[in-house]
Amino acid sequence: MIIAGPCSVESESQILATARALAEIPAVSLLRGGIWKPRTRPDAFEGRGEEGLAWLLQAKKETGLPTATEVATPEHLELALKYEVDALWIGARTVVNPFSVQQLADGLRGVDVPIFVKNPVAPDLNLWIGAFERLQKAGVKQLFAIHRGFSYYKESPYRNFPMWEIPIELTQRINVPIITDVSHICGNRELLLPTAQKALDLASDGLMIECHVHPEEALTDARQQITPDVLKTMLEKLVFRSKDTGCVERDLAGLRGEIDDIDDELLQLLARRMEVSAQIGEYKKRHNVTVVQMDRWRKILSDHVSTGRELGLDEELVNAVFEAIHHASIQRQIF
Ligand code: PEP
Ligand code: MN
Repeated sequence: MIIAGPCSVESESQILATARALAEIPAVSLLRGGIWKPRTRPDAFEGRGEEGLAWLLQAKKETGLPTATEVATPEHLELALKYEVDALWIGARTVVNPFSVQQLADGLRGVDVPIFVKNPVAPDLNLWIGAFERLQKAGVKQLFAIHRGFSYYKESPYRNFPMWEIPIELTQRINVPIITDVSHICGNRELLLPTAQKALDLASDGLMIECHVHPEEALTDARQQITPDVLKTMLEKLVFRSKDTGCVERDLAGLRGEIDDIDDELLQLLARRMEVSAQIGEYKKRHNVTVVQMDRWRKILSDHVSTGRELGLDEELVNAVFEAIHHASIQRQIF
């Protein structure tokens, strides 16, 4: 599923021209257009509101493309349905607020329209799941998740850090298709293609990509929007992978067997390591030495990180694995 269209519906001519160009790309299945824009600072462009809905409807009638917009309040919902918007999404800033999500869920009782739930701005999986549960309880049947990345306190090349593990865990907990909003993850045009490819490689079910006929003049998110032409080229470059492993099952079997053997070895080694830890614990107790020896631990960790680096292992992985091992070792030595 490819959802494309401007960040904001700005004018009749802008949405019509964008929709006409997007309708020429067969892969595009839904025309997006923001009508009410949640802005970080006041006095920024906050969307056209109801007149924008009329233009969006006109674009749909002319091109045949179904439409989607963001709703944050029951009033938005009512107006969007009045103007025949085909699918709705709940934005990242709304999903953080269970009161707002509940109001939308209540407004959706008895309404059969696909709802896309963006991840909350904070990396809080339960909050995201909670939004789905509220909608499900209200009887909403067609639910989709949109992964748009998360606020992150460290510097990063992304506008919203992807934290791919969170949408992956979401699909393990609830059964919803995941659409990756690469535009809001990246925040710039340059990263869109590799990020979209990564999403598809990780089994994303579709992409949301902001498109504008004149991206540099866009009233919102100008740095991340692309022209429909650029979208077309991008879609041609992307490799869409199959989730069905049937055809490669035999080749994979050998490699999977190898992974199983390695995991088994890792477990044996861990058990041995814990045994030695317990012996050290006994020794420390007998000689009145504290269990936690922070200086030695810091030295071990930094040695492991640099060895890991030589072996091509990610620092984050080495840190996480040894932090967990250290934690378990201390538990062993205390009890
Ligand atoms: C948007 O899709 O234009 C938008 C405001 O997204 P988000 O809620 O992900 O910030
Ligand atoms: Mn946007």
